[in-house]
Amino acid sequence: MADLTERQQRATEIVAHPTKYKVCEGCESIVVIQTNTCPNCHGYRFDDDVQRVVSQAKLLGSRPQSSVRPDDLLS
Ligand SMILES: [Zn+2]
Repeated sequence: MADLTERQQRATEIVAHPTKYKVCEGCESIVVIQTNTCPNCHGYRFDDDVQRVVSQAKLLGSRPQSSVRPDDLLS
């Protein structure tokens, strides 16, 4: 897995354990579930819905300048 970027590795970890994370409603970054205030935008509203976390993690793991689809992470 040496060719995976750090972001992709993190995304893979999040997809594997989505209940440990939540999505910031302010900037849509993914933070660990224990976080009270977003480190990026200092928001305090989060969405801990598992499907939302997974789909957001796939977005983060996909490279914006490539044609790699988020679904490819699971194949
Ligand atoms: Zn935020």
